[in-house]
Order: sequence, then structure tokens, then C-alpha cells
Amino acid sequence: MSDTTGKVITCKAAVCWGAGEPLKIEDVEVAPPKAHEVRIHILYTGICHTDEYTRSGKDPEGLFPVILGHEGGGIVESVGEGVTSVKVGDHVIPLYTAECRECKFCKSGKTNLCSSVRATQGQGLMTDKTSRFTVNGKPVHHFMGTSTFSQYTVVADVSVVAVNPKAPLEKVCLLGCGITTAWGAVVKQPGIAGSTVAVFGCGCIGLGVINASTLVKASRIIAVDTNPAKEAWAKKFGATDFINPTTLPEGKRIQDYLVEITDGGLDYTFDATGNVHVMRAALEACHKGWGVSTVIGVAAAGQEISTRPFQLVTGRTWRGSAFGGVKGRTELPGLVDDYLAGKVRVDEYVTHHRKFAEINEGFHDMHGGDCIRCVVDMS
Ligand SMILES: [Zn+2]
Ligand SMILES: [Zn+2]
Repeated sequence: MSDTTGKVITCKAAVCWGAGEPLKIEDVEVAPPKAHEVRIHILYTGICHTDEYTRSGKDPEGLFPVILGHEGGGIVESVGEGVTSVKVGDHVIPLYTAECRECKFCKSGKTNLCSSVRATQGQGLMTDKTSRFTVNGKPVHHFMGTSTFSQYTVVADVSVVAVNPKAPLEKVCLLGCGITTAWGAVVKQPGIAGSTVAVFGCGCIGLGVINASTLVKASRIIAVDTNPAKEAWAKKFGATDFINPTTLPEGKRIQDYLVEITDGGLDYTFDATGNVHVMRAALEACHKGWGVSTVIGVAAAGQEISTRPFQLVTGRTWRGSAFGGVKGRTELPGLVDDYLAGKVRVDEYVTHHRKFAEINEGFHDMHGGDCIRCVVDMS
């Protein structure tokens, strides 16, 4: 028991007061966790494109004011009534994809899309439809059920997992989103061993797909990105080939080029761009009869994908996954152990570091072509 148990904690949080506004470091009051809730002392957080998407105001479902952030690492400060899955002092990663093990989705064994907290999480609230955050008495929304841009945050007990305390939180915080998403999309899909793979987009997720494809022993891994600086990154993570579509002859489409150089197309392709035109190219680069294309990138609201139905009739499969299909509470501890055993790369993604006071600069870092991930020290 810490001496803050049951009390309101006043700490610093980066609050976004309105669409398109920079974050502002504020004194925030964080209420104690209610039943089946956990209050976490956040030590480190990554900054992800999804945070920027909401901050920018492009997300039509964005709610303000809000405390963003969903790639966090921290230590449990206190727990509410009925919490058994984590305890005070545990090193934890908050999960924006909950795992209750009781809902229809969890019980299906077919998906990680737990429905337990989905509705209220989308409203920026805890399950009792209130917020644990206030600034000068005014409630502030939660974000993705995690709100890791606060020194203390409250999450549902189904939305947090304890991990090996030997793992440095300034690194494994990144397993809260992009790296795990990429890992799951590859490793949880059977058949990639000995197969050819193409990855569209070489940001955090694309590099993660490349790394995971080497783990499952894909025979050829083609990285595709319009930024030539990504070639070195892609090769470092295990890509065998790098193609910059902007260097192809005039009028040559990337999917046609890939089909040509792979004797009919790829066995597996992955979109890690969120661009619906790239998603189409990724599908059409697949081999007739068996090629499978996975959409991982998150497109802007309202966007639609298209292709000729002939592409599917002739045996290509279009699929997608969220958080890589990973059940966070069940699978993340093993992934952390794989990282500690040197099997899964994490350290290599961290290109930038920022102090909490510089969090807005961290958002600027993200837009630079040389940034894979910026990790913010919350102390
Ligand atoms: Zn993310
Ligand atoms: Zn569930």
C-alpha cells in the first residue's frame, strides 16, 4: 500500500484542449481507481500517429479536452476493489484493446476484439461513464482507455497487463501499440515460413512486419517505401529487397512491377501505410490462387477501399487485424520475454527521446523521415 492509496493524486499531464491545438502541461487531479480499475504511475510513453490523428482534429470522433497517449509503461500505484490480475508495484503496459475473457468476442477464440469496455472507451470515459481526470474541477476525457500522457492514469483492469520487471519500461512501452501490432499480424498468421512477403510502408509497423517475417523465416522480404532513407532501415530489420515506387518507369504500377519480379506475385503482403490506394496495390501484388494481403495501417475516417472483384474470385484474400490480433493480457508477457531473450527487436525503434516538457517537440519529431519512435520520459 502506498500513502496515496484512495486519495486524489495531483500530477502533471499533457492536455489537448481542442482540435489542432498543441498539448499543454497541466496540473491534473487523478481520482483513485474504482472497482475493477487500476491507477498506474506512468514512467515512459511513446508517441504514435493515432495520437497525432486525434490531436490534429482529423478524427471526427475526437473528444476534447483529452489526455492522449496509448504506448505507455508504468508501475501500479493502487488498485480498486475486485482487482486480481495486477497488484501494487507490478510493472505494467496499458492495453487499448482490452481482454476480459468473458465477452462473446473473448470467448470465441477467433478474435482479440474484446467488447467489454469498448462503448465507454470510445466515449473517453471509464465504464461508469465518468472520467477520473479533472483540471481545475473540469473533467478531461480519457483516450483509448489508456491516456498515457499523464504521470498517473486510471485504466480498467481488463485493459492492463503485468510484464517481466527486468524489461526496461522505456523500451517495452512501445509494445503497447505498433511493434506488437506488426508482430501479431505476421506471427499469428500461419503459412509465412518459406513464403515471399512484401511490406508497404517502413515506419514502426512496417519495420515490425519485416522483423517478424524474419522470425517466422519468410524466404524473401520486399520492403516498399517512397522515402529512400527507409532502405537502410528496412535492410537493418531484415528486408532482402527495397523498392521505391517513385523510381519505377513512368506509368508502371508498383503492384505490376512486384508481380513481374516475383513470378506471379507475393504469397503475403502487408499494408502499413493507412493509405487506401496502397492497400489496393498490396492486394493486387498478391499471387493468384493463394496470396493473402493484410491491412494493418489505419485509414482516416470515411475512407473506402476498392479493387476489381476478379482479384478475390481468383483466389486472393483481403484481411485485416487490430493490435495484430494479439490478446494483450494473455500474449504480451510472452512477447516481453521474447524481447528479453533477444528474439524480438524493440530498442532499435527508439530514434528520439524527449523530456515530458518537450512532448510537443516529440510530435514534430514524428513527422521527420528519420524518426521511427520518440519515447517521452514522464518524470
Ligand atoms: Zn498507436
Ligand atoms: Zn472480452
